[in-house]
Amino acid sequence: SSQQIEGNQLPRYVRVNTLKTTVEDVIDYLKREGFLYQGQASRLEDLNNLSGKTFVSDLHLPDLLVFPPKMDFHTHFLYQAGHIILQDKASCLPAYLLNPRVGAQVLDACAAPGNKTSHLAAIMHNKGKLFAFDLDAKRLSTMSTLLLRAGVTCQQLANQDFLKVDPKSPEYSNVEYILLDPSCSGSGMVCLRDSGAEPQEESGRLQALAAFQLRCLNHALLFPHLQRLVYSTCSIHTQENEEVVSACLQQNKEFRLVPLKPEWPERGLPPLSQCLRASPERTLTHGFFVAVLERQAVGDEDER
Ligand code: SAM
Repeated sequence: SSQQIEGNQLPRYVRVNTLKTTVEDVIDYLKREGFLYQGQASRLEDLNNLSGKTFVSDLHLPDLLVFPPKMDFHTHFLYQAGHIILQDKASCLPAYLLNPRVGAQVLDACAAPGNKTSHLAAIMHNKGKLFAFDLDAKRLSTMSTLLLRAGVTCQQLANQDFLKVDPKSPEYSNVEYILLDPSCSGSGMVCLRDSGAEPQEESGRLQALAAFQLRCLNHALLFPHLQRLVYSTCSIHTQENEEVVSACLQQNKEFRLVPLKPEWPERGLPPLSQCLRASPERTLTHGFFVAVLERQAVGDEDER
């Protein structure tokens, strides 16, 4: 429709890489370059009213700065030096919500090109271990470059099919956290909307993707020491989001959904209101879905 928000109308989000610098230092650097810092946003509209060289701190996520649409930092020193990461706000939710403990063992199942991996490493202060898998060698090599620039040192990358990683291997016996961000239709990416695929072809494709996503999710829950898992997609389709999570919970009664961020403006579709959704219209981001699953304490499975 003509009301649709285009990708270049969304605010530009910049995540400060706290492995290399601090939010204060980035703000000072930008101010010296003539940017005008307007403090922390208090309402969503504050993110939509930016122009010229003004910027604010985000109202929902830490370490996130918000600039006017079209602001381009790709050639900026702070980006080239890995002090800032150019990442949509919605895609900062998974690592933030997984919130792994400093020193923990964490697994990123479908990791390339690695923006969420580098965010996890920042939250872990580069301490502990971050196992990261991807099936695509080319994307994995892009990821190595990105992690190097970001100063990530706690990772162990492998060009491997996550579905073939053995959850019972002693190597992973201390993995407590998993981030699962599998391939999806990408229907939430504003630039990909209305791609004009044939409905029939589209429905078969969604069905195949949903089956793959559910297999990955069920596989992830087999890691014996897993406590907490984030499942995310950049899809707007219920079939890849709420339906995958519901089917998984049906099959894994020892896990439950964690209620997320009550102040977030957009929820998972009923009855999965514990989960978050994101969209250009409601959150000024690309379309996104995120669920957090947690292992229940023994004996809690029958809770009513
Ligand atoms: N988490 C990444 C980030 O934030 O930069 C984006 C991940 S992207 C949505 C999905 C990735 O899953 C792709 O890089 C794809 O190559 C990878 N992938 C697809 N099937 C896989 C499998 N069976 N095992 C591991 N990785 C897989």
